[in-house]
Amino acid sequence: MLQNSAEQLRDSDWFQSAKQKHDEIVSKIKEKYKNSFSSQEYHKIEKANWQFGKECIDNLFQKKNPNSEVAKQLVSAFDNIKHGVKTSQKDVKEAATLMAQVIENLPHKPKHPVFTVEEIVGRSFYNIKDNEIHLGTREPNYDPNFEIFPTAFHEMAHWLEETPEIKSKIVALYDKITEGLPLPISKKNVSPGAYVELYRKSKMKLPLEYCTRDYVEEKRRDLISKGKLTQEEINAEIEKFRKTRPTELLSVFFEQLLKNPASMLDEYQDYFEAIMEVLR
Ligand SMILES: [Zn+2]
Repeated sequence: MLQNSAEQLRDSDWFQSAKQKHDEIVSKIKEKYKNSFSSQEYHKIEKANWQFGKECIDNLFQKKNPNSEVAKQLVSAFDNIKHGVKTSQKDVKEAATLMAQVIENLPHKPKHPVFTVEEIVGRSFYNIKDNEIHLGTREPNYDPNFEIFPTAFHEMAHWLEETPEIKSKIVALYDKITEGLPLPISKKNVSPGAYVELYRKSKMKLPLEYCTRDYVEEKRRDLISKGKLTQEEINAEIEKFRKTRPTELLSVFFEQLLKNPASMLDEYQDYFEAIMEVLR
């Protein structure tokens, strides 16, 4: 179970031919649309990427049981979406089945209740406290066919992260790769007057700076930037948000595996291996 290393998978005949097939599909799409780059073309390429990503996930997480209790529960969580208006049910259910497949292969299964789902205006997120996935699908220009598959997969990984055996290893990994590195202070102000989002520096090469997102209270930001808080006080500050906000390490791993598996096996091998180790 979960034996493959990045190198083994990348160098396997299966991967090489699947990648070649995927690259051919993408260049055919580009060829067809070469004179008019459109969102349609972009969308088709993204879908081809996800198809390749799903094949890689199938290869890494081989035990499959779409009729398992977990699969049924995850899928039905999307049947009762609050304020559901634009979700592509087919895509979220496919993402739920894929996440259930991942879980089938894990030695430690989630023991906490299955999440609820609400569609919202704004950015998607998972909240630990209310165990709810908030899907940002209610923007006026939101295209339900476009992002929902990887987003639903990403948010479900946040819920999965709350499995105690996974959570403790993820937090340990987060602490290890950020330890001793200076804290960037000014970043996005997501909730004015409440807290600011920061992206920590990392000792491990990561596909997105978003992987090491953290929060501090807005009113503490100035104190931190003026050097008025000790490292312990800063850590305590960050710790407060750990109770309500998950890390991004596991979710970005699954999202990137879906969107660009080749880069995960090549450029971000250490990250790949570290997360596979968390899951074992
Ligand atoms: Zn996230």
